[in-house]
Amino acid sequence: MSNQQHISAEEFDVRDYMRLELFPHFLCPGCGHGMALRAMMWALYENNISMDKLAVVCGIGCSGRLGAYIDSNTFHTTHGRPLAFATGLALARPDLHVVVITGDGDCLAIGGNHLIHACRRNVNMTCLMLNNEVYGMTGGQVSPTTSKDRYTTTTPYGNREPVFDACKLAEAAGAGFVGREVTMQVPTLKDLIKQAFDYNGFSFVEIISDCTEVFGRKNQLGESAEMILSQKAGTRPDSYGNKVDEPFHPNALKTGVLAMTGRPEYRAHMQPFKKEG
Ligand code: SF4
Repeated sequence: MSNQQHISAEEFDVRDYMRLELFPHFLCPGCGHGMALRAMMWALYENNISMDKLAVVCGIGCSGRLGAYIDSNTFHTTHGRPLAFATGLALARPDLHVVVITGDGDCLAIGGNHLIHACRRNVNMTCLMLNNEVYGMTGGQVSPTTSKDRYTTTTPYGNREPVFDACKLAEAAGAGFVGREVTMQVPTLKDLIKQAFDYNGFSFVEIISDCTEVFGRKNQLGESAEMILSQKAGTRPDSYGNKVDEPFHPNALKTGVLAMTGRPEYRAHMQPFKKEG
C-alpha cells in the first residue's frame, strides 16, 4: 500500500507510485507499455486519486503484469477475466477507484464476452486496453487486432483475418466513454486517461502500444522509435465526429475522445423496486 502523500508534491515523479523493490522490471527494452503505465500514474497524480483508494485489476499478458509494479491495491486475475472481477469489485466497493489494465488478446479474444457486457452495464470503472497487435508474453500468437499480413507465431504466412476496431465495439456495446491514443503522445494520453477517470460510468481507452521484441522483430518494423512514429503516422488527431481538413492516411485511426454518451451509470437502474398499492 502506498505511503505517498502526492497531493502536496510539487512535481510528479512516477517512482513515488511504483513498487521499486520489484525492479528491474520485466519489460523488454523499447516496449510501449512502460509509457502507458507512466501516463496512467501521471493521470492519477493530476486527478488527485489516492493510491489507498485505487484498485487495479489486471488480466494475463505483458499488460497484465504491469499491475505488480503499482504501489496500490492490485489484483492479477485469470486470462480474459479482469473486467468480470472488476465489475464485482466496483459494485461491492463503490468507494474505490477501479481501473482495469488489459491487452488486446486478454480483452478482445479470451475476454471479449466480458468486454461487451461491461460496456452494456456501464458500471463505473476504467478499462485501459493496451493494443500491441499480439499476444506478447504467451508466445507471440495472432490477436484480434493483428494487422493484415503481419507475421506471428500462429500466422507464419501472414495474418488473413480482418481486424477488430475495439473502440467501435465498445461504443456499440454501450460504453459511456470511449477514447484512443498512442503511447508516443504521453501528455495527450495522460489527459485522455484523466477524462476517463473522471467519467461516471464505464470508460474504455484503447492505447496503441508497441511490442518491439515479439511483434516488431518478427515483422521487421524496426526499433521502438520507428514503431511508435509509424503508429503516430497511422492515427488522426481528431475527436469523434469533428471535421478534419488536413490530409491524413486513409486507414488512419481516430484518436482522442471518440464517444461520450452520458448514459446513466449502472446503479441508476438498481434503485429498490417500490411495491404498488
Ligand atoms: S514481449 Fe512485447 S509486449 Fe511483452 S514486454 Fe516484450 S516488447 Fe513488451
